[in-house]
Amino acid sequence: MPELPEVETVKNGLAPVMEGYVFDRVQLNRADLRFPFGDDFISRVQGQKLERLSRRAKFMMAELSSGDRLFMHLGMSGKFTIDPAAFEKHDHVIFEMSSGNRVVYNDTRRFGFMELIKPGEPSRLDHLGPEPLSNELSAPVLRAALKGKKNKIKAALLDQRIIAGLGNIYVCEALYRAKLSPTRASGKLTVADTELLVRHIKDVISDAIKAGGSSLKDFANTDGELGYFQHSFDVYGRENEPCNICETSIHRIVQTGRSTFYCKACQR
Ligand SMILES: [Zn+2]
Repeated sequence: MPELPEVETVKNGLAPVMEGYVFDRVQLNRADLRFPFGDDFISRVQGQKLERLSRRAKFMMAELSSGDRLFMHLGMSGKFTIDPAAFEKHDHVIFEMSSGNRVVYNDTRRFGFMELIKPGEPSRLDHLGPEPLSNELSAPVLRAALKGKKNKIKAALLDQRIIAGLGNIYVCEALYRAKLSPTRASGKLTVADTELLVRHIKDVISDAIKAGGSSLKDFANTDGELGYFQHSFDVYGRENEPCNICETSIHRIVQTGRSTFYCKACQR
C-alpha cells in the first residue's frame, strides 16, 4: 500500500512528463474506480494544461488551467506507468500529454480514485493536519494536538487531522526510532517525548523519500512504472525477528484493527 514517500516518488516521476503540458486526450476504460469519475470528467480535463503537480498527504494534486484541481489517490494497488510497451489488464485511465508521453493508471483492486474539485469547492483535503516535513509540524503543535487525548499514541498518529499522510508503516518506524511504546496514552507524552517523536517522524519520512528518489532512476530505466520500491524497515513486518538494537524479538499487536510492530524492550 503506497504511503506518503511512495506518493511523493510517483509525483516526482510524473512531474517531468505532465507539469506544464496539456492533456491532449483522456481515455477512461471504466466509469469508476473507488468512486465514479463523473460524466464531465473527460470534458473538464481534456484540453487543459496541468499548471502544477503537487502532493498533499497521500494525494497527488494537479492544478489545471481552468482552476479545477484533480486529486489522484493510489488506494491500495494504484500505479502509474509512463509510456508502457503494452496494454495491461486493469489499465483504467490513459492520459496523452502534449509532452508526447502516455501516462497510464492501473489499479487491480480499485481502491484508488480521481476526483475533480472546482475552485472554492470544499474537498477532503480541507481538514488535514500539517505535513510531516513542513515547519507547521513541530513538537509544540503536536503536543497541543494530543492534549487531553485518551487514545494510544499509535492511533493518534494515524489520525490524519493530527498529522497528514502518516500511515501504519511509518508510524511504527517512527515510534521505534523514538523508543516510545505504541501503547502509551497520547495525552501523557512529555515535552521530551514529543520532541523526539517529531524529529523521528520527519527523519523516517525523509529517509524513505530519499530511498524512493534513488529507486526512481531504476524505474525510469526499466519499464516506466512508478510507485513501489523495496524498503528495509526496522520493525514493520518483522514479527519474531530480532530487534536491530537489543535482539529482543519484535512483537506484533493489533490496535484499532491495524498491526503494530514494536520492541517491548527498547520502546517504553
Ligand atoms: Zn530492542
